[in-house]
Amino acid sequence: MIRTIDPISRNLDTSCEVCVIGSGAGGAVVAKELAEAGLNVLVLEEGGYYPTSSFSHDPQRMLPRLYRHAGGAIIVGNAPIMYAEGRCVGGSTVINAGICYRTPEAILDHWRDEHGLVELAFEKLVPYFEQVENNLHVMPVPDAIMGEDSLKFKQAAENLRYRYVRVQRNIHACQGTNLCVLGCPTGAKQSTLISYLPAAANYGAQVLANCRANRIVVKNGRAVGVEVSVVDPASQQIRRRALIKAGAVFVCGGALHTPALLFRSGLAKWRSWIGRNLYLHPNLKCVGIFDDQVNSWQGSIQGFQIDEFAEEGIVFGSTFLPPGILALSLPYFGNDSFKLMEYYHHMSVWGALVEDTHAGRVWSLPNKTSLTTYWVDARDQQRFLRAIMLLAKIFFAAGARKVLLPIKNFSEIDREAEVAQIPKLRIRASDLSVFTVHLMGTCRMGADPRTSVIDMDHRFHGLENLFIADASVFPTPVRVNPMLTIMALATRAAQKFVENRKRYLRVT
Ligand SMILES: Cc1cc2nc3c(=O)[nH]c(=O)nc-3n(C[C@H](O)[C@H](O)[C@H](O)COP(=O)(O)OP(=O)(O)OC[C@H]3O[C@@H](n4cnc5c(N)ncnc54)[C@H](O)[C@@H]3O)c2cc1C
Repeated sequence: MIRTIDPISRNLDTSCEVCVIGSGAGGAVVAKELAEAGLNVLVLEEGGYYPTSSFSHDPQRMLPRLYRHAGGAIIVGNAPIMYAEGRCVGGSTVINAGICYRTPEAILDHWRDEHGLVELAFEKLVPYFEQVENNLHVMPVPDAIMGEDSLKFKQAAENLRYRYVRVQRNIHACQGTNLCVLGCPTGAKQSTLISYLPAAANYGAQVLANCRANRIVVKNGRAVGVEVSVVDPASQQIRRRALIKAGAVFVCGGALHTPALLFRSGLAKWRSWIGRNLYLHPNLKCVGIFDDQVNSWQGSIQGFQIDEFAEEGIVFGSTFLPPGILALSLPYFGNDSFKLMEYYHHMSVWGALVEDTHAGRVWSLPNKTSLTTYWVDARDQQRFLRAIMLLAKIFFAAGARKVLLPIKNFSEIDREAEVAQIPKLRIRASDLSVFTVHLMGTCRMGADPRTSVIDMDHRFHGLENLFIADASVFPTPVRVNPMLTIMALATRAAQKFVENRKRYLRVT
């Protein structure tokens, strides 16, 4: 059981040893580790608390509850990019696919060589990966829940002789309902709602849902508290405000909201890298239409990944979109859309995840809100086209009759011969439909305070007791799905904090 406090009826002017802002992949891990070490921990979560029993397959009901902006938000730039992130107790882990990868060694080598992160060598992180994998029950997707779409995907990889891996996911007794993105209705997916937060509560941590951190109060080089407002979940109106005093603060709001909070707290004058260095792992989705029924709604959301092209920054996997969401994302209207969606049970959605090389930015606006911008550069755009070309080829190798592409005015092909045209297309970035669920890197970690925001122990350069542990700390994209990296780093950050707790909490 998670211990939540009703922030509307309770006097919130309270204090704790450590205040953790955000309850997703980073925040929940920190809360559990610190509470287990005996610290008095309070977690602030802007979103609401929705237990597994409240989950349904109805997007209209679940999207506004679990997703920020009900799932539909755009990053501004030359190719407006749709993104999705969680806003609920458990954060994005509640709505993610549960795919777990250790950080590739080559990425950690790069972090060491270019950013001075000598403490994050792969072999030094192995114990933290193992702890998280045990706590999350990470396992290879079993045959019993392998859907027809995954089997077709695997067959294509074999036909093309591409290297592929069986996906590892954080699941326990998964029944293959394929509703991960709307909240797992059986509680099989070990999101932090199911795993880390109940464990944190067992050690005494408390969670304040519907409670938004507005500003970190800093005095004499120390964070001394957090100003919060309590948000009515139905109307989103602010019901009350309070000050929570804290001995130390961990910010874990995710790659867009952690920098926004630091801006609101006046900390940009300390570190100019706040908000810079935003990476997205842009995701290009194609839809394959097969003669036989695929029934993609049955089975694991993803069973295999093709990593033949990982070294050039592209990996492929299957995914699943409920019919309403898929229909919205396709460039067809009226009768055309209706006719196409009649084939829903013959469709499979597969995606390419691209390691981007050009960063975007979160900006602070004068009215204390923030703006996110991202420009796709020519090199990445070419890589996107190559990724789409390879994905179309994979679909045809799986036996697809038609492939719908995320490219304006070149949105469907039904002959494999047309695939070769894709990289030669003369298009603008805005002609591509790009999507992301992997936002990373806006408060990057580094040994040099002039070019980073936090040090190797996740401590804000220049402040004694302010820490960051979430996707914002990555110096670069990680090439693979990021959750396990975030959680392993958060475990390490919290355990380092516990080792030095007297210094950070100024206990004499
Ligand atoms: C649909 C989807 C599928 C995905 N699939 C995978 C996958 O299969 N594998 C994988 O590795 N990754 C996946 N991801 C990405 C992964 O879930 C995220 O990278 C990860 O959860 C980010 O962790 P985080 O701690 O940075 O932020 P989050 O997990 O998003 O948690 C941040 C929390 O902080 C809260 N918050 C923010 N600001 C404030 C504030 N001011 N006050 C209080 N609370 C605040 C937010 O409401 C949120 O709940 C997916 C993401 C999505 C959306």
